[in-house]
Amino acid sequence: MKLERTFSIIKPDAVAAGRIGAILASIQEAEFKILGLRLTRLSEAQARGFYAVHSQKPFFEGLVKFMTEGPIVVMALEREDAVARLREVMGATNPANAAEGTIRKRFATNIERNAIHGSDAPETAAAELAFFFTTADLI
Ligand code: GDP
Repeated sequence: MKLERTFSIIKPDAVAAGRIGAILASIQEAEFKILGLRLTRLSEAQARGFYAVHSQKPFFEGLVKFMTEGPIVVMALEREDAVARLREVMGATNPANAAEGTIRKRFATNIERNAIHGSDAPETAAAELAFFFTTADLI
């Protein structure tokens, strides 16, 4: 199978709780290659843009507030079947439904404060990677 790239964020709840190391360990144990990694912070405009697909949802304003409340870690990741594999390692959006051992089961608080983002399709991954990394960053 061909190598694929995906995009991930360690969200503000997990950064504030000191979980960067544990989450990176889970990702590396799942044999992802880390192509890009940066501690940063989303502006309100960036958070609105990044989650534009959810702008009509009732949880949108809360999500923007959450994602801008503190630092995040953005990551460019690569392995075979990266998008689907990262979604498995992350677990379900709602940690109540997440499988044992997944990042969300271990570190999420609730359906909103759920520790990690991962792209949901290769096309989304390409757009999200371009939102945070230049082509030169990922060579
Ligand atoms: P993901 O791909 O598993 O991250 O889930 P979605 O793309 O559906 O949602 C994006 C993010 O919005 C989630 O990771 C949560 O942080 C938040 N979210 C999703 N659904 C809900 C919800 O029903 N309520 C609240 N408060 N937040 C939600």
